[in-house]
Amino acid sequence: MRRVFALLLAAATLVNPNAIWAQESADDSRKYLLDRVDDVAIVQLYVDGFDQLTLKEKTLIYHLSQAAIAGRDIYIDQRYRYSLRIRSVLEQILTHPDGIDDETIAAIRKYMKLFWVNNGPHSSLTAQKNLLECSDQALRDAARQAAKNGANLPADDDELTKRLDEIGPVLFDPNFETHVTQKSPGEGIDILTASANNLYDNVTTADLDGFKERYPLNSQLVKGDDGQLIERVYRSGLDSLVPAGMYAEPITNIIKHLESAIPFATPEMARALGALVHYYRTGEAADFYGYNIAWVADKDSPVDTINGFIEVYMDARGMKGSWESAVYFNDPIKMDMIQKFADNAQWFEDHMPYDKQFRKESVKGISAKAIQVVMETGDSGPVTPIGINLPNDAAVRQRYGSKSVSLSNVMEAYEKASTRTARAEFCFDDAEFERADKWKSIALALEVNMHEVIGHASGQVNAGIDPAASIKEYYSALEEGRADLVALYFIGNPKLIELGLVDNEDDLREMQLAAYEAYTRNVMTQLRRIKSGTTIEEDHMRNRQMIVSWLAVNTGAIKVDVRDGKTFFRVADVAAWHQGVADLLAEVQRIKSEGDRPSAERLMKDFAININVELRDEVLRRYADLDQPAYTGFVQPELHAVTDDDGNITDITISYPQDLETQMLKWSGAKQ
Ligand SMILES: [Zn+2]
Repeated sequence: MRRVFALLLAAATLVNPNAIWAQESADDSRKYLLDRVDDVAIVQLYVDGFDQLTLKEKTLIYHLSQAAIAGRDIYIDQRYRYSLRIRSVLEQILTHPDGIDDETIAAIRKYMKLFWVNNGPHSSLTAQKNLLECSDQALRDAARQAAKNGANLPADDDELTKRLDEIGPVLFDPNFETHVTQKSPGEGIDILTASANNLYDNVTTADLDGFKERYPLNSQLVKGDDGQLIERVYRSGLDSLVPAGMYAEPITNIIKHLESAIPFATPEMARALGALVHYYRTGEAADFYGYNIAWVADKDSPVDTINGFIEVYMDARGMKGSWESAVYFNDPIKMDMIQKFADNAQWFEDHMPYDKQFRKESVKGISAKAIQVVMETGDSGPVTPIGINLPNDAAVRQRYGSKSVSLSNVMEAYEKASTRTARAEFCFDDAEFERADKWKSIALALEVNMHEVIGHASGQVNAGIDPAASIKEYYSALEEGRADLVALYFIGNPKLIELGLVDNEDDLREMQLAAYEAYTRNVMTQLRRIKSGTTIEEDHMRNRQMIVSWLAVNTGAIKVDVRDGKTFFRVADVAAWHQGVADLLAEVQRIKSEGDRPSAERLMKDFAININVELRDEVLRRYADLDQPAYTGFVQPELHAVTDDDGNITDITISYPQDLETQMLKWSGAKQ
């Protein structure tokens, strides 16, 4: 539930050669931006420092990466029940193209690029469905030809027709299962039936009244013909007492790779991995709880992984975990800033602008790292967050703390792959643009780290309150807003000078202004992701609109100028901006601490959810002229095990395929 996406980069992105991220290791010959498909940029992810790792660490990363790849189809299936069937047909056509007309192949290739990036037909950011841009007949002809070419497709015409009939509405009908998730589908429409994801089958929210889930995170709920609810747990099974569940086969493969990894892990990490394996077998919530404790306890291992049913954004109810994996190692060069926040977490908690009763008397267990991520799959790849804070379990967090990571090489890739054009478009004048240019990298790094390290970790919840359970579908956006507000509150604080993160008072003031300006502009520029409709669904986008809209309505912090028919959101008063952030943070913290759902709902409905359609249309027009990508899918590095004659691993090499299609066809097995 706690991830930062690169939406802060919205109004654009650029390379600042003096920035802390423009580091010595970056190689100018690297090709970052590989491809563009509609509003998606496809970018190669690079890893710095891999070769300096020990063979043991590299081998560990290798096995964990195999575990990451082994589970990715789970997420593809969770996201949409037709996805694996669609993939198997379209990838077979792509790999057996002889005699199929070029236009059809091009349409299928384009569709699959979007599919690969989003792990299915629906966009990761807008939740809306992409369509295949050829005729139904052209697809049928192509499939028949591919079958003749030896594709793994039914040679029998009736069989093939049946298979294509089944996926036809998904590919061609714009009104069929349009959204993977809809948390606000409109009056009288149920959030579960309006969401096309595969976490529920034939179930409405009303069906769940009084139904207690045994496996809240790792199960699918199905309503049978007799109206009975069935909970299908995801697990491999253990013995006759714990039978195999849903996704048993991929989970068994994940376990196999995790077990290969364990001998190369530190004792602390080996304990966590062992607990994870046990949980994958039983599927029991208590075992997941135990795993989370072991995972949080392992604070010092240089290599780490996230692997499991973790984030709940895709579920309109905010309960079911989407499968994901990330494999990463410490980035010592960039650890310094994060460590400073972690070491001073108590100071920040003591200076929070919210009521004293909601402050933690001792903030503990904060662990924050800058990392180089080597592999991300499932819900965290190819579209990746730039910061992660886990575990989500409130009880574990309260008692044992949490771990935060900031994905250095992802942030670097964003910067290297993008241009300055879009920012120039939405800055009011040269002074604002130059401030943005000068401060973007450092301000973003500070904001992301404060969001994760002192943001999510902060604040005390009242006894007996489970804010997520009380606030329900508005909780994620509220909590993301809270973490952003903490970062925005402290971004101009002299403490940053004392910690050696900013040089002097002048720099601090200028950076604070630049950060507020960027955040203010973003409420406009993020609208480009809402191509149609009148509401925002994604939680981070909601929280950002909430903050800026609230400031605009309740303070004198923001002014809107129009010049030559173009709208500009500007900072009118830095002090008012800062005071507004303090006031809103105090209120948001109170809402969380008390589990005050009515207030959360009012904040969301008044400020976060509904968009100004006229403004959105203007933003879309201006972006259309700029031709900027709206989000990014990353091609992952490839690891290769070098073995001796006896099969022992003697080295792990890393390479960069620079081609999404090659990687995806290899991973699915469509092409070796
Ligand atoms: Zn967050």
